[in-house]
Amino acid sequence: MKLTYYGTAAGEGWPGLFCNCSLCKTARELKGKNIRTRSQALVNDDLLIDLPPDTNMHCLVYGLNLERVDHLLVTHSHSDHFNPADLELLREPFAHNRPNTFHIYGNSKVKEKLWNEVLDADMAESKFCFYDAKPFCPIRVKDYTVMPLLALHDRREECLFYQISQSGKTILYAHDTGAFPEPTIEYLKANKTHFDLVSLDCTTQSEEDGKNHMGLIDAAKEKHRLIELGLGDNTTKWIVNHFSHNGLWLFDKMAEEADKYGFLVSFDGMVVEF
Ligand SMILES: [Zn+2]
Ligand SMILES: [Zn+2]
Ligand SMILES: [Zn+2]
Repeated sequence: MKLTYYGTAAGEGWPGLFCNCSLCKTARELKGKNIRTRSQALVNDDLLIDLPPDTNMHCLVYGLNLERVDHLLVTHSHSDHFNPADLELLREPFAHNRPNTFHIYGNSKVKEKLWNEVLDADMAESKFCFYDAKPFCPIRVKDYTVMPLLALHDRREECLFYQISQSGKTILYAHDTGAFPEPTIEYLKANKTHFDLVSLDCTTQSEEDGKNHMGLIDAAKEKHRLIELGLGDNTTKWIVNHFSHNGLWLFDKMAEEADKYGFLVSFDGMVVEF
C-alpha cells in the first residue's frame, strides 16, 4: 500500500494565511518542509481522505491526480477538511469525460454542508452519491475495507477517523482527535487488527492536549497504548501529522523531538510505501 500526504497543517495552514507570528515568518523564509497546507492524503492512487481548500494546489504543486479518484472519505465538516464548493466542479461544463459517480462518505454534518453549499440538485443525483459513515460500521470501498472510528474532537458533530485495509495491510489515519475515546479503544481491543502504518494527530506539538487534538506527548502515549494492545510494533510505520504554528516547532525541531519517540514527521508531498 501507499499513503501520500498532500496537506499536513492544522486549519490555518503554516504559515497561517494572515499570521505574522515569528514561526510563520520563518516558514515563509525557509520554505521547504516548513510550508504546510491543509489536511489531505491519498491511499494508493484512488482513495482520497478529506477535501480541503488546498486541493487544487495539491494537484498543481504536488501532482495529486484526481482523474481516477471516485471515492472520498471525509473525517468531519471543519473547513480545513471539507470544502464542498469544489464538488460543484464535478459537473459539466466544468468537468468533461467523467462518467463515474463520485462517492462521498462522511457524517451527518458533512452531508448537511454538502447539500447547503453545492446547490445543483441534478448534479447531486447524476454526479455524486453520499453515504452516511457511522462509527464502527464497516464500508466496502472498491477493494478496501474502511472502518470509521470515533474521534474526540468537535462535540457538535460525530468526528471520525479511519482504519483502511487492503490485501492484508492496514492504515490507521487518526487526525483531529484527542486521546482515542473509550468506544474506539474497545473496538480496537476486540478486533486486534495489526496496523502497518499509524498516522497520529500532533496539532499542538510541544503542548499536551488530548481533549481535541494531540501534542507529541499525547501521540507517544497513544502509540504506547496501541503497542500494549498488540496492534502495532516495530514493523509499524509510526507517523505524526497535522501541525499548528501554535505548537511552536518548525520541521527540523519537530523531527528531532519526534525521533525520540520513534515517529516520522509528515511533510507536504511525503510518500510512504509499505
Ligand atoms: Zn484539522
Ligand atoms: Zn503563525
Ligand atoms: Zn477539526
